[in-house]
Amino acid sequence: MKITNIRARVYEWKGKTVAPQPHFCSNAMDQLYDRGDSMGTFRFHGWTVVEIETDTGLVGIGNVALAPRIAKQIIDLYLAPLVIGQDPFDYEYLWQRMYRSTHTWGRKGIGMAAISAVDIAIWDLMGKAVNKPVFKLLGGRTKEKIPCYASKLYHTDLAEMQREAQGYMDQGFKAVKMRFGYGPKDGPEGVRKNLDSVAAVREVIGTDTDLMLECYMGWNLEYAKRILPKLEKFEPRWLEEPVIADDIDGYAELNQLTSIPISGGEHEFTLYGFKQLLDKKAVSVIQYDTNRVGGITAAHKINALAEAYSVPVIPHAGQMHNYHLTMSTLASPMSEFFPVHDVEIGNELFYYIFAGDPAPENGFIDLDDNKPGLGLALETRYLNDFNIIE
Ligand SMILES: [Mg+2]
Repeated sequence: MKITNIRARVYEWKGKTVAPQPHFCSNAMDQLYDRGDSMGTFRFHGWTVVEIETDTGLVGIGNVALAPRIAKQIIDLYLAPLVIGQDPFDYEYLWQRMYRSTHTWGRKGIGMAAISAVDIAIWDLMGKAVNKPVFKLLGGRTKEKIPCYASKLYHTDLAEMQREAQGYMDQGFKAVKMRFGYGPKDGPEGVRKNLDSVAAVREVIGTDTDLMLECYMGWNLEYAKRILPKLEKFEPRWLEEPVIADDIDGYAELNQLTSIPISGGEHEFTLYGFKQLLDKKAVSVIQYDTNRVGGITAAHKINALAEAYSVPVIPHAGQMHNYHLTMSTLASPMSEFFPVHDVEIGNELFYYIFAGDPAPENGFIDLDDNKPGLGLALETRYLNDFNIIE
């Protein structure tokens, strides 16, 4: 089998969106004084879809969610020439070829995210070629089904947050993640409001449900050190991305500070990035996203590394590229699940672009043993809501 063509297209949402309200989630821009753009960096309303065509007629599908127009350029100009004419089963060689030839500028960030998309499409192709789901090529089924946690609960009116949390309980979820609305510049009042929101959600979900807390890099080390001890009583399963991704020593310090496990990694890249996080004991939960970290080839290696360090891997985002890895390793106890809803942040765009993601039942999702590849197809129902750039 030979790769004959790579087609990268950008899907930009032009349909209806829900405007996020102030303080709906802390984020890295919060440290700056307000010029009215804080929420803008928190929206991802475009996606790059990669299709790899072969001389057999099989087509592999991959995707990358970051900076989609740039990702397309990187794939078209730099990556496609490296893989066209090659055998997709030489995936390690192809990964190294893409990684090493873009090494001067591509190691982290959008260069690696673009490589991820091509790599994911290669794995989809391999599965389709042997008529097996991708997870069967990675280690197979290690769990009967995958427990998943409902991940939304953006900060809003507390009664509304409680209603949303109750909804997840009614659907059978045994774990939920909520977002903080306030950070350092909101002072003691913001600290109180953060604590009140956690108390409100805990009140609804009780003590037998896991509660995850998300900062999305909206705090700094000093603020996190002050608030973490106050959060211990709520017994969170983890506290996610308290500081920016580059402050690895900050993660390490916070991870030793209290009983609350610190998680992160959705803005880290490749085996080397995660070795660094693990060596420094910076995170107690690894949260790479396969469509950023270096694709399935890189994520599979990180799973093995995490197993040796006894650190669980719970990838950022649900979505097929992550589910197959979670299914196939004991290092991954569960998956994140973004509830399907109107377009707001952009995470949910996945469901408007792709068809085939499994829906959770009673807090679990399952993968089909007989669906080859990733099991995804391009969704056609919402094409009129996208501006598609060829
Ligand atoms: Mg996160």
